[in-house]
Amino acid sequence: MSSGSVVADSQALQDEFNPFLSMAKEFEVAADHLNLDQGIRQVLRMPDREMKVSLPVLMDDGSLSVFVGYRVQHNFLRGPCKGGIRFAPEVNIDEIRALAAWMTWKCSVVNIPFGGAKGGVICDPRNMSIGELERLTRRYTVAIMDILGPDRDVPAPDMNTNEQTMAWIMDTYSMHVRRTTTAVVTGKPLSIGGSRGRKEATGRGVMISANEALKIVGRRPEDTRVVVQGSGNVGGVAAMLLHRQGYRILSLSDMYGSIHNEHGLDVPAVLTHLQETGRLEGYSEAEHLPNEEQLELDCDLLVPAATENQITSANADRIKAKLIVEGANGPTTAVASQILEDRGVIVVPDILANAGGVTVSYFEWIQDRMGYFWTEEIVNSRLEQIMVDSFRDVAETAGTRKVSMRTAAYIVAIDRVATVYRLRGLFS
Ligand code: NAD
Repeated sequence: MSSGSVVADSQALQDEFNPFLSMAKEFEVAADHLNLDQGIRQVLRMPDREMKVSLPVLMDDGSLSVFVGYRVQHNFLRGPCKGGIRFAPEVNIDEIRALAAWMTWKCSVVNIPFGGAKGGVICDPRNMSIGELERLTRRYTVAIMDILGPDRDVPAPDMNTNEQTMAWIMDTYSMHVRRTTTAVVTGKPLSIGGSRGRKEATGRGVMISANEALKIVGRRPEDTRVVVQGSGNVGGVAAMLLHRQGYRILSLSDMYGSIHNEHGLDVPAVLTHLQETGRLEGYSEAEHLPNEEQLELDCDLLVPAATENQITSANADRIKAKLIVEGANGPTTAVASQILEDRGVIVVPDILANAGGVTVSYFEWIQDRMGYFWTEEIVNSRLEQIMVDSFRDVAETAGTRKVSMRTAAYIVAIDRVATVYRLRGLFS
């Protein structure tokens, strides 16, 4: 192979793994189906606002470090922006832009009145103390404060941020506006305005999506063998809820490896082991496999619920599942998506399948603004209603336009945003 073709291959691979390019590709395909005019495409491609901030933080050893943070607000047309904040060393503006746009489409596909945003701070939380993380979070909140607020932009947890981070943001914002403003963030602890059912919501949405998808293929949960990648908030909860519905969970994984039992795992026992030891390794009632093999296991339903770029041009033709429900954001590259479609695999895409989390975040925002909190039963039944309605909208569009569920989800989402744009008109 010439060095030129090696460079071209490595560029193609880099492009395949670039979330912004993946999202842009999906956007263009759906926009073509909608015959969207070039002007509106330009509006919807570009983020409405991007903020980059420098964050000086006093470290525990007395030194000063300056961190870089971003907040990208992709679109305000349907309401305040909504999207997580991640703390990670590899955060970059391309990734944050793509994730912000994804949030616009995700909120639109489940028809909740938010636009999309995402934030991030370049830092390595594993090497920071709680005090350093608190000072960084508070400084970041103040730096982006002018564009935050319950009616402007409502962050939530994402990679390496959690309920505690949201509590610090809520407190910092509230101290500045001189009143307790719980609705400025979601994913808070219950005692300061969090919602019942929020922790389970994404996994529950994945389960509801799987149930709806089974109806399309005419299969029963009892006859469905499932592989779940990831056993965290999304994968672990989805596995537990699917197990309770009668699905046979053959395999679970974490970042250290996978476990497999072809007769079905005792999911509660696996999750107890994981909670006690911190990893799946050592669980005795299963064989252990390297993660590369897990996605290719023989099964009926695959739930990638760990991280992005897991189903790629390198393994898409070896995936045996005929049904995939995406719990993670961007687990399938655009190239792999096409391979799966050509092979007739049905994929319930991330912007629909994992939208349960943002839906209950929306419920949290509503409850905070009303000052009246719902029971878990009410949260779960309203979530189910929204997920089922959204699934049906997407499946119907896929059927009438003869496109994949992914393209259909983008068509539904983009059409809703474009309709609002046309109705509101151009302010000038
Ligand atoms: P988490 O940190 O709770 O769990 C991630 C899990 O994946 C862990 O079990 C980890 O060990 C495992 N993992 C990481 N890399 C892996 C690999 N290469 N192979 C196998 N397992 C691996 O995170 P989460 O909240 O469950 O989020 C998972 C995905 O879902 C992310 O893409 C996230 O953006 C997306 N998501 C999360 C939510 C939410 O509400 N938490 C909502 C929408 C989308």
